[in-house]
Amino acid sequence: MTRPVYLDNHATTPLDPRVLDAMLPYFKEKFGNPHSSSHSFGDEAADAVEKARAQVADLIGAEAREIIFTSGATESNNISIQGAARFHKGKKNHIVTVVTEHKCVLESVRHMEDEGFDVTRLAVEKDGLIDPRRFAEALTEQTVLATVMSVHNEIGVIQPLAEIGRMCREKGVYLQSDCAQAVGKIPLDVNEMNIDLMSISGHKVYGPKGIGALYLRRRPRTRVHPLFHGGGQERGMRSGTVPAPLVVGLGEACAVAAEDMAADHARVGKLRDRLLDGVRAGIPDVILNGDAECRVAGNLNLSFPGVDGNAMMAALRPHICVSSGSACTSTSVEPSYSLVALGLDKDLAHGSFRVGVGRFTTDAEIDTAIGVIVDQITALGGGKGVRTAAE
Ligand SMILES: *Cc1c(COP(=O)(O)O)cnc(C)c1O
Repeated sequence: MTRPVYLDNHATTPLDPRVLDAMLPYFKEKFGNPHSSSHSFGDEAADAVEKARAQVADLIGAEAREIIFTSGATESNNISIQGAARFHKGKKNHIVTVVTEHKCVLESVRHMEDEGFDVTRLAVEKDGLIDPRRFAEALTEQTVLATVMSVHNEIGVIQPLAEIGRMCREKGVYLQSDCAQAVGKIPLDVNEMNIDLMSISGHKVYGPKGIGALYLRRRPRTRVHPLFHGGGQERGMRSGTVPAPLVVGLGEACAVAAEDMAADHARVGKLRDRLLDGVRAGIPDVILNGDAECRVAGNLNLSFPGVDGNAMMAALRPHICVSSGSACTSTSVEPSYSLVALGLDKDLAHGSFRVGVGRFTTDAEIDTAIGVIVDQITALGGGKGVRTAAE
């Protein structure tokens, strides 16, 4: 049996071989602790960490000293949301978020609600985007932080961060952004977008798992309380030994992304468009969820009216790796809350999946995927409906 075609690059990306090559010496002979300043093993690792810090910073228009290494975007979101809220507690007590944010953002915000903060959870429009006017209305004198992601992890839509950032800066509100899916995929500039805190994940950008970064703005100074206490590494924001091999991998992944972004964007976008055209030719009533234009190159989120979601995922599973976005709760399988937020009914949300085309996806794999999707969905009775207004 050949392995199924991997089209789930939003869940994780494979390690780029260039990244692995950069990391290997730091797993082997260059194993020093980057905080051991008494000898050359430590210095060698510390130099590598600082090089990586600059590589990460360069990709987002930041200064190296504004980058804090963490275990991933989950931790970065937790530090920035909880840390900023707690730092300003007593002076400001309001947080703005969006209903389609990643679970780790929503759960961090809920935790702050339990600690006494007021929360505004903005709805999204049918296209998955927030309305900047509604966002402006949500900001108050009491707002400490707004958390709005860039690229959505399921629907792939890109929120208008530059516009949102301008509003936040005018009101003196921190803009925190979960950019796990955006870094290395679309151009980002923390200064042009007025982002004060940004979360980055290594394994979404062809780097290793278990490493990420937090961008923490210096001017105007953005203040957060750390979550971990200890040796005071990473400017006191993240105690614990910095994992030099993983950090080197994240740095190299960012350097490669800076180099390849334009070419990747063009190639991945073409493959994604060909996949959509091919599926539409076979299943004319397929629905593309989320804005068609304001979307990251590799993403499709498709719904198939009249097709049972469980049967669909089971039929696709041996052939292609895509994600349903459904979540199992103790009592039932709940459809993706993000698709529900777009206004899809439960059945349609269940009959949906996300495709993530990536840097290593081939033309042949796209051909295979088109054939599998059209055949399997047709066999399940799909493709017979009329186009719906939801489109
Ligand atoms: C993957 C992902 C995360 C979590 O990142 P980790 O580095 O795995 O903790 C957070 N937000 C978004 C949007 C993601 O896609």
